[in-house]
Amino acid sequence: MDKVSTTGRRLPPVQGTASAEDIAAIVKKLRDTFNTRKTHDINWRMGQLKAMRAMLKEHYREFIDALTYDTGRPLYEAWTGDVFCAQNEIDVAIKGLKKWVRPRPLEPDFGFFPSKAWTVLDPLGVTLVIAPWNYPLELVMNPTVGAIGAGNCVVIKPSEIAPHTSGLVAKYVPQYMDNDAVAVVEGGVAQTTALLAQHFDHIFYTGNGRVGRIVLEAAAKNLTTVNLELGGKCPAFFTKNAKMQVACRRLAWGKFYNNGQTCTAPDYVLVEKSVEQPFLECMAKTIKEFYGDDPQKSEDYGRIVNVHHFRRVVALLKDQQVYVGGRTDESDLYIEPTVLVNVSPDSPLMQEEIFGPVMPVIAVPDLETAIQFVNARPKPLAQCIYTEDRGEERMILERTTAGGVDINTANLHSATPGIPFGGVGPSGMGTYHGKLSFEAFSHRKSVIRQGTWTELVSQAINPPYTKWKWNLAKFLSGTY
Ligand code: NAD
Repeated sequence: MDKVSTTGRRLPPVQGTASAEDIAAIVKKLRDTFNTRKTHDINWRMGQLKAMRAMLKEHYREFIDALTYDTGRPLYEAWTGDVFCAQNEIDVAIKGLKKWVRPRPLEPDFGFFPSKAWTVLDPLGVTLVIAPWNYPLELVMNPTVGAIGAGNCVVIKPSEIAPHTSGLVAKYVPQYMDNDAVAVVEGGVAQTTALLAQHFDHIFYTGNGRVGRIVLEAAAKNLTTVNLELGGKCPAFFTKNAKMQVACRRLAWGKFYNNGQTCTAPDYVLVEKSVEQPFLECMAKTIKEFYGDDPQKSEDYGRIVNVHHFRRVVALLKDQQVYVGGRTDESDLYIEPTVLVNVSPDSPLMQEEIFGPVMPVIAVPDLETAIQFVNARPKPLAQCIYTEDRGEERMILERTTAGGVDINTANLHSATPGIPFGGVGPSGMGTYHGKLSFEAFSHRKSVIRQGTWTELVSQAINPPYTKWKWNLAKFLSGTY
């Protein structure tokens, strides 16, 4: 595959042009479409999903170039992290949709004999997808697959911090998809704020927790349901029973992929003291194996998205003890793959999500201490466990919580279609991917139909409530 230059191609953030009135008109148009029931039709849904698939297939090269320009990512990571994951999600939906829409039968209580019950999934209506910059295509496409698969209209708001990708989404979505049901609004805070002032039937937001709270507040005004896909500090447990070299490679891949700008990336490592030194040596060796002697020259090593985030991450390095790396170059938005040791849990580095290629290593005497360390902090989006010991694995799984867990790997549970993905507490609410995306954008409606060929039960529950009815009710409820 050809290479593209990842420097000097970046654009400033998108300055949206849509006014509050434009946005209100877009939402109204979509609501009118929804009310025609056009989007309920399974063939319409399938057609839209196939159109999304065709859009990615026919323009994948433009998309991966755009992703590379926006994020400074290697092409391979643009392809695997965004385009490939989005394609997978669409394929899973196309394959599963006809099954997912089927009514699900239930067993009604015999007390309501003769009756039959089932659930059906109703589309919610007009929905909103707000995406961040770190996987700016995948995180636009994946929720949209759920919205469309479930029969909704959708407004897509790409991140202004990924302007090339945002521009392509705004260019191609109208060419491939039904413009009466799917709209793209480009822009920044002004446009997102105007969107949030509208009444949506579901909002799917991916990004940081500060804005997550703004979204939740706006949604509360209309009692709109939300998915909040947030972030936080994801711990990695590295025990004395980890398979050293394999575990270091998996951990380094998870951490340094997309330059550490992955929501599920291990943020910091809790390593058992007895293996701290071999771990550090192995990690240093692994970084060299991945990116060579000078990672700045490696075509396989990404960059920080912009100067704001570059300076934020560099500030976190202040007063830290570097074991590997530590060099930075603002003109290239480059931060060397960096491993820090003797990190104080009270340092600023340990208070916020790093979202960069910096790996703090904290040595702990034992697993118990590591568990207590994690439990004393906000519930993370993801957790990595590196061990060959199933007992240790079970102990961590039982004693801690997280949105999802990657054992002897990283990021994989979020990249595998069909595996539920979402946070817990401050790292998010709701899950999606595969069938769950479809369910996130649906209302599960319960239906019960009572037969009319006998009045047996009705006679027992209708007034007047005579003595024999009381006795029967008491008998059936076990009160006697
Ligand atoms: P971002 O800056 O692109 O913001 C996300 C969206 O919020 C954008 O569309 C933006 O327009 C909108 N926004 C920003 N400020 C706003 C405001 N004041 N009011 C209304 N809307 C506003 O992306 P980000 O938040 O920097 O993304 C990185 C964060 O997202 C990290 O914390 C990361 O962990 C998290 N993340 C989570 C997931 C997940 O699936 N759980 C995935 C990717 C990223």
